[in-house]
Amino acid sequence: MAMEVGRRVPPPHGSAPRRQPATGGGEGERVRVQAGDALPLPLPIRHTNLIFSALLAASLVYLMRRWREKIRASTPLHVVSLAEIFAICGLVASLIYLLSFFGIAFVHSVVSNSDDDEDFIIDSRHKQARAAPPPPAPAPCALLGSPAAAPEKMPEEDEEIVAAVVAGKIPSYVLETRLGDCRRAAGIRREALRRITGRDMDGLPLDGFDYASILGQCCELPVGYVQLPVGVAGPLLLDGRRVYVPMATTEGCLVASTNRGCKAIAESGGASSVVLKDGMTRAPVVRFPSARRAAELKAFLEDPANFDTLAVVFNRSSRFGRLQGVKCAIAGRNLYMRFSCSTGDAMGMNMVSKGVQNVLDYLQADFPDMDVISISGNFCSDKKSAAVNWIDGRGKSVVCEAVIKEEVVKKVLKTNVQALVELNMIKNLAGSAVAGALGGFNAHASNIVTAIFIATGQDPAQNVESSQCITMLESINDGKDLHISVTMPSIEVGTVGGGTQLASQSGCLDLLGVKRASREFPGSNARLLATMVAGAVLAGELSLISAQAAGHLVNSHMKYNRSSKDMSKALAEATAVKPKKC
Ligand code: ADP
Repeated sequence: MAMEVGRRVPPPHGSAPRRQPATGGGEGERVRVQAGDALPLPLPIRHTNLIFSALLAASLVYLMRRWREKIRASTPLHVVSLAEIFAICGLVASLIYLLSFFGIAFVHSVVSNSDDDEDFIIDSRHKQARAAPPPPAPAPCALLGSPAAAPEKMPEEDEEIVAAVVAGKIPSYVLETRLGDCRRAAGIRREALRRITGRDMDGLPLDGFDYASILGQCCELPVGYVQLPVGVAGPLLLDGRRVYVPMATTEGCLVASTNRGCKAIAESGGASSVVLKDGMTRAPVVRFPSARRAAELKAFLEDPANFDTLAVVFNRSSRFGRLQGVKCAIAGRNLYMRFSCSTGDAMGMNMVSKGVQNVLDYLQADFPDMDVISISGNFCSDKKSAAVNWIDGRGKSVVCEAVIKEEVVKKVLKTNVQALVELNMIKNLAGSAVAGALGGFNAHASNIVTAIFIATGQDPAQNVESSQCITMLESINDGKDLHISVTMPSIEVGTVGGGTQLASQSGCLDLLGVKRASREFPGSNARLLATMVAGAVLAGELSLISAQAAGHLVNSHMKYNRSSKDMSKALAEATAVKPKKC
């Protein structure tokens, strides 16, 4: 019998469940099985078609002739001879075959055309996608548990939910709680979005991610996830440790450049770091009827005699949050109270906010005319460029230094100490002063900070203050060697909480040896991470300033960002390390 068998092929990685195109070749298509395939004849289809067509014609001609003769001879038509029985059977068989072969194919073509039309209404690009040759089918083993192994069509009940979301009858944000299945919720939301916008989001993967891990903590209303490459720079020899630094970036040259800086540092005996301060801040703003009353609270908070009481109230919020101090500023009758506390291995924004809330509740009893305007009054100052962080610090304040030997400056960095010192003074110090920089006395600290933040699950928006850095270069040992340092007052990092517990990010923290909280010394992992950030910044600064001093910058960017030539060669040139053959 003629029939159309649709063999399902999983959609491309990460795409939403979709119907597959019925055209094209290869394994990844629906395979059409024609009527001829159902017959166990060792003949090609066109031969069986010919045989059945001839049988039909012969049977028809024979029967017509016999019926004409019978009518002439007045013989009853239902009296049939054996030959006529054969002819009738031949006629019926060939009719069934030919109808099945051509008729069903015709019906199918009508049906699939109407499918195409429907899809065209959703998005004309579907049609183009159907016309395009299908992607090669993945190897069978790759399908086992693979993200591409999505079902052919949405189950009917999911279709109904998608329709309800599109119609606005079900809010998209309740899907996770209603369905109790985060992957399913994301798939339904994405399909609804596709239908609403007519955009396929091709390339944005859906499968292959643990949506339960972000629920209620990292991201709401997920429809997929963005993939980023992670490169590794190192070893960075820092405080006697060999550190391999994961960097998530799409900026060509960045990892290679940092890697070169690490090499220069390692060949000079390594870098060392000091954590100067460790305290996260939150500054609520409260308003009083008068500036005098605001000043009274300021005096109360800053009186050392009241600190212990405030600390007891504040510290109730967490085992790890410990009040360090309160710094106040007044604007008219508004009071800004910048609470600072240690936060263990957490970056600490939640922790400090809870402690601050405790104190506000406590103060309300003694200052009933205090009107809390906001738990955050921007004197904190979170994710905004601010002098208060630059001067007082926020998170971890770190200084990291190294002495780079003259021969390393020449051999690895391809420049000389004098050129480096002069460039740093004119560019990073004077140039930034001319620009009115706020904590931006460096070449590209934010490049390294952000790449490590993304790789290790930090809050990338905090790169604003975490990248504040002054890079100092001085010649020492009679002008032969180079002393380089980076001073970074506001590195805001944690190894627990936020995005740090997600699988990929936690893998990167593991590479650094600072995964999760430290059991023995709470806070030591986060502080160690901050020193690694500063150490990597040191390497990045050293390499970029050297490249600029040697006039290499444009050349190396052309090499890494624009060229299609063998990258292993380019990398080897930049790092002066011969690549191993794979
Ligand atoms: P953040 O304050 O950075 O937003 P969270 O408060 O969300 O971080 O996460 C920190 C959580 O981790 C808290 O519940 C805290 O009790 C827990 N925790 C476990 N061990 C530690 C540790 N060593 N340091 C800090 N927090 C820890």
